[in-house]
Amino acid sequence: MFDLHVHTVFSDGELIPSEIARRMVAAGNEGFAITDHADFSNISDILSKLEKLKDFMDLYDAKFLIGVEVTHVPPELIGKAVELAWREGAEIVVVHGETVVEPVKNGTNFAALNEEITILAHPGLMSEKEAEMARENGIHIEITSRKGHSLTNGYVAKLAEEFRFNLVINTDAHSPSDIINDEMAEKVLRGAGVEDWREALDNNRRLFRRLRK
Ligand SMILES: [Zn+2]
Ligand SMILES: [Zn+2]
Repeated sequence: MFDLHVHTVFSDGELIPSEIARRMVAAGNEGFAITDHADFSNISDILSKLEKLKDFMDLYDAKFLIGVEVTHVPPELIGKAVELAWREGAEIVVVHGETVVEPVKNGTNFAALNEEITILAHPGLMSEKEAEMARENGIHIEITSRKGHSLTNGYVAKLAEEFRFNLVINTDAHSPSDIINDEMAEKVLRGAGVEDWREALDNNRRLFRRLRK
């Protein structure tokens, strides 16, 4: 699979990018996106660190996108943070949605879906209005294999069927044991009730190829 939401030591993950790349290959995956937790204090820092690897990308068996996950930024400032991330060289911008297992501020999903972001991660109990915004603005919504965040996967899958927005499947990996393969991704999607699980895996692939510069 192409996992589009992974953390490194540049936020609260355990591994450096090269370690993740090897483990992704070992799990049979072709590519991934590094999307470390970011706010205004570290967006530039994370991206300039990751940028240093881009010159050597051809030598990695698992290719990766560099990006950020805008996390717990006040909704009024999410647009600015997203803009800064693109300007600083992000290839993918994820926003940390209103998961039910963290005190994410109300209005985060809504603010994020109004901006030019790639993926709204673990959106929790997103509203119907937000579902419409995701479809209209072409923003992909995440089904996640991560414990806790995954509690609302079934709800999100049902909403996707009704409102026709695009789903992706990500791990939100912080540790080596969080990495999954295609087979597990299929199980998570089917377990969430996503009938067209192949389409979701395809969305990951298509997004990765489109975003890779
Ligand atoms: Zn984290
Ligand atoms: Zn995350």
